[in-house]
Amino acid sequence: MDLLNKLQLQLAGLEEKSLIRKRRHVETPTGPRVKVDGRDMLCFSSNDYLSLAGHPKVMAALQEGVSLYGAGSGASHLISGHSRAHAQLEERLAGFVGPYLESPKALYFCTGYMANLAVLTGLAVGDKDTEIFSESLNHASLIDGARLSRTTVKVVGHADVASLATLLEQSTAANKIVVTDSVFSMDGDLAPLPALLALCEKHGAWLVVDDAHGFGTLGENGRGALEHFNLRSPYLVYVGTLGKAAGVGGAFVAAHELVIETLIQRARPYIFTTAAPPALAHALLASVDIIEGEEGRQRRAHVQALIAHLKANLKLKRWQLMPSDTAVQPIVIGDNAETMRVSAALYAQGFWVGGIRPPTVPVGTSRLRLTLAAGHTLEELDRVIAAIHVLEEQS
Ligand SMILES: *Cc1c(COP(=O)(O)O)cnc(C)c1O
Repeated sequence: MDLLNKLQLQLAGLEEKSLIRKRRHVETPTGPRVKVDGRDMLCFSSNDYLSLAGHPKVMAALQEGVSLYGAGSGASHLISGHSRAHAQLEERLAGFVGPYLESPKALYFCTGYMANLAVLTGLAVGDKDTEIFSESLNHASLIDGARLSRTTVKVVGHADVASLATLLEQSTAANKIVVTDSVFSMDGDLAPLPALLALCEKHGAWLVVDDAHGFGTLGENGRGALEHFNLRSPYLVYVGTLGKAAGVGGAFVAAHELVIETLIQRARPYIFTTAAPPALAHALLASVDIIEGEEGRQRRAHVQALIAHLKANLKLKRWQLMPSDTAVQPIVIGDNAETMRVSAALYAQGFWVGGIRPPTVPVGTSRLRLTLAAGHTLEELDRVIAAIHVLEEQS
């Protein structure tokens, strides 16, 4: 069979299962209100939880960063691409989440995907001696990082602390790495981090925490999941992403300085890629200031008010709002085609609420992934709630 025919057949198979994904064109800064393909939309499907991507101070800082450092970095960090802006950001971030680590240093990455590949390959010293214990609902980048590390990977059931305890007890690996999302990106629930950390300390295992959805949103000062649970340990390896609540792009790893030095020396996803534009790092300094300050506190408080309002006012009969206390509020519908029909019907009414299907979520649990952001008003939330009520009635 012709090679292109094969691809066409494969794509037709996806179409048949309502699994084809389409991209839309956003014509304005992202935020609660966007213009998409010429239409004004209310967006409930972004991870810009604090609505900082369109914040005037962050946008101005990005422009200033371009004036100071130009458009691009020109090379990888270890060649000539490491800018003063990158260094300043790393220092700022190490200080920001440092209270929860020992001898903390931070390392800035182009994306969270790459940071996760780097951490899991970088920490897997002596491939044969390493075992990775990976939570079953982990983000794809952690799954790929575990694969790329060429170690033994044990998948642990969702939030199953008892199974993890058994697996750690049975393990003879000298180097053990437990890895988990903090906030599960498609469910919105929190990993039992205090129990996981206690097990890691008992067994001398690393605990890698991917706080993509917690950084900026969790904790009194927005320092994320470690602040939320008040955890502190030299075994913690923290990954925060900076394209979600921080509103810009990239990610960072914060950990003991020996971990960071190991990543700089050994992690291929760090070494063999051009450094992100320094202007992004410059803009992120402004984001972190906002996150840490009074404005960040107010924005987090408003997101909490929106979450409480949704839970109090969304009354579902067949569909199910998942138990989540975070800005990720999924509504499970089940069937792929029905989920996409509902998402399309909402879209037609001006509400952009993404439908999430396998393989992103398990088969039979397709869902609307409604995300709340600081820029949404309670009135806007009421409007989407009313629309969902009517659609469930008709569906
Ligand atoms: C978004 C996300 C990532 C990837 O981060 P990017 O900066 O978007 O590459 C990693 N882990 C989780 C849990 C995420 O949600």
